[in-house]
Amino acid sequence: MCSMSLKCSMSKKQKNKTVADNLLLDILSCPDCKSDVGMVKAKIVCKKCGKKYSIVNGIPVMLIGEADK
Ligand SMILES: [Zn+2]
Repeated sequence: MCSMSLKCSMSKKQKNKTVADNLLLDILSCPDCKSDVGMVKAKIVCKKCGKKYSIVNGIPVMLIGEADK
């Protein structure tokens, strides 16, 4: 079991994308304000500050410098 391991969920194939995304959302938080994030149109969106983070090849790019306002 490695339900809390980001590395483990990343290494899986992307077939079961919805489940993988939900797992990621559980463990991810906004790098700027540390709030919960949600999925909007294949992007990760901070529920508090509204920053958007891209998902590239199934891997969320959680960098403040890469965020869209
Ligand atoms: Zn935020």
